[in-house]
Amino acid sequence: MPARKKSKLQIDLVVPVYNEAEAIRKTYADLRQVADSLPYDFRFIYVDDGSTDGTADALRAVCADDPRATLLRLSRNFGHQAALTAGMDASTGDVMISLDGDGQHPPTLIPKMISLVEQGYDIVQGQRIEEERAASFKKVTSNFFYWLINRISGTRILQGAADFRALSRNALDGLRLMREYHRFLRGMTAWVGYNSVILPYHEPQRVAGKSKYSLTKMMRLAADALFSFSLAPLYIGLSAGVAFFILAAIEAAYVLSLWTVGSAAQHLEPGWSSLMGVLLISSGTIMILLGFIGVYVGYIFQEVKRRPIYLLKADEPHE
Ligand code: UDP
Ligand code: MG
Repeated sequence: MPARKKSKLQIDLVVPVYNEAEAIRKTYADLRQVADSLPYDFRFIYVDDGSTDGTADALRAVCADDPRATLLRLSRNFGHQAALTAGMDASTGDVMISLDGDGQHPPTLIPKMISLVEQGYDIVQGQRIEEERAASFKKVTSNFFYWLINRISGTRILQGAADFRALSRNALDGLRLMREYHRFLRGMTAWVGYNSVILPYHEPQRVAGKSKYSLTKMMRLAADALFSFSLAPLYIGLSAGVAFFILAAIEAAYVLSLWTVGSAAQHLEPGWSSLMGVLLISSGTIMILLGFIGVYVGYIFQEVKRRPIYLLKADEPHE
């Protein structure tokens, strides 16, 4: 913990909302109940992600009522990850906790999260535990997504990880150095490192309304995750080129073997061997060159993300 001359820890609750007018009263009341029962200095940072219903009015009413609440309004709907980023940028507390504004991230876990940060964990990552339900479309696609990303990415991403997490000041400062445009915060928090701990929870139903994550938004998030945490798709060209060269070698061996046993004239159409050879070798060369270009594009992509090259542990004494 930073040695601040403060009597109480400041805890910032960051809540991104998009068209949640019906849910806000109830979820705010639940948050407030938890905040009032704990000896910390709480702030509620609401981010209105370009809502078009009465969300802004509901949040203004909350802010008028409670001096600990602030409202940031984005100029349009930028998406959940951007809204969370705006809230985290505004956080000045010792601990930042992000949670959804629809009641699906139980506020009753807040005391546990804070106590884990106080014990020295920098990241307390909420993990949704799947109820034993029949396989739904969302569940199957989500399982496939986590399986795939963990196979092709160097960053381990927890199955069922949610944007329900607590970050210490250290971890948040590290995360804030990552200014990339396509954001997948679950991966980015894993990338940051530091001491982290998983906090499993059962997800209740939304208090009102329906999911604001459309299929398009989910697919965009999955693409942001796959492409910004892995260069594997770029290596497809390179692998295909190598495969073509292997085929060329097999073809050459086949043709040679027919020649050595003297049955070439019987089995081979005139021109087939040379045509096939040229085709496979030239395709292989093109693929490999495309693959190399792909890899350079990948390196450029990593550079333009301007991620920090390393992060220091802040608690080691340094002169
Ligand atoms: N949300 C947002 N911008 C969006 C979509 C969603 O700020 O473009 C908010 C939404 O209001 C909620 C949280 O992100 O507080 C999670 O969204 P949702 O509950 O719809 O996702 P689900 O739980 O269905 O995956
Ligand atoms: Mg939800």
